[in-house]
Amino acid sequence: MLLAEIANRSINFFENQACPMSQSFALINENSENPIFLIADHASRHIPEEYGTLGIEDPSLLRRHIAWDIGIEDVTRRMADKLQATAIFSKFSRLLIDPNRYPDDPSSCPPISDGVTVPANKQLDEAERQKRVDTYFRPYQEAIGRVLEQKLKISQTPIVISMHSFTPIMDDFERPWHIGILWDQDGRLALPMLEILNKNASLVVGDNEPYSAREPLGFTMNEHGTKKDIPHVVVEIRQDLIDTHHGAEKWASMMTDLVLQVQKKLATV
Ligand SMILES: [Zn+2]
Repeated sequence: MLLAEIANRSINFFENQACPMSQSFALINENSENPIFLIADHASRHIPEEYGTLGIEDPSLLRRHIAWDIGIEDVTRRMADKLQATAIFSKFSRLLIDPNRYPDDPSSCPPISDGVTVPANKQLDEAERQKRVDTYFRPYQEAIGRVLEQKLKISQTPIVISMHSFTPIMDDFERPWHIGILWDQDGRLALPMLEILNKNASLVVGDNEPYSAREPLGFTMNEHGTKKDIPHVVVEIRQDLIDTHHGAEKWASMMTDLVLQVQKKLATV
């Protein structure tokens, strides 16, 4: 059998067998009985080899926040370890296709991001767009759906936490928040989280800052949280606080405490 055939077969195997590893996502603690589920849409800055640098001339730009959420994979992995909770990580850069955007949204395969032009995404033909949806976006989102089905068998109220990080400076504005809690219609997690965080005088806490969960609607939380009526929230942590292992550990510990407190409150409601 040719190597290419073996490779193709293993890709099909992964997609058909709900295997925890694929080219589009990684899962840890997949069979955890904990109802908490952590999701890191922008964990990776990986661009598959066939795409090179997507035409971006200076490859160092691909280390910047435009390609991924700096630090969030580290924080989320540490939280998953501490909580023994299931976590999913994307394995592709949002510059290839953003797992948290509807595929028909113009920013799904962004032609420009924070002032950086992405040449390979300009005048993208329909076949290429569909290929990225089929190979990366859909398997990742389907894996989230499968995990949630499992969680719903364990608990009536899984807790879905979408983990992101934000760049400290955007459009010359220095963002003051350390952490932002983003939510749309479901305050079951967001409101107690905000209440607890606001008691900590050393933190500047954003309520739907630096982004709003309402505009534009993120694909992941809208499809898996709002539409399925599962308690969910988006957490955004400022990147300069978590771009070292030391910082990631500190924030993972704090977030773990926060999630446990909120879980307890939810159980007593
Ligand atoms: Zn993000």
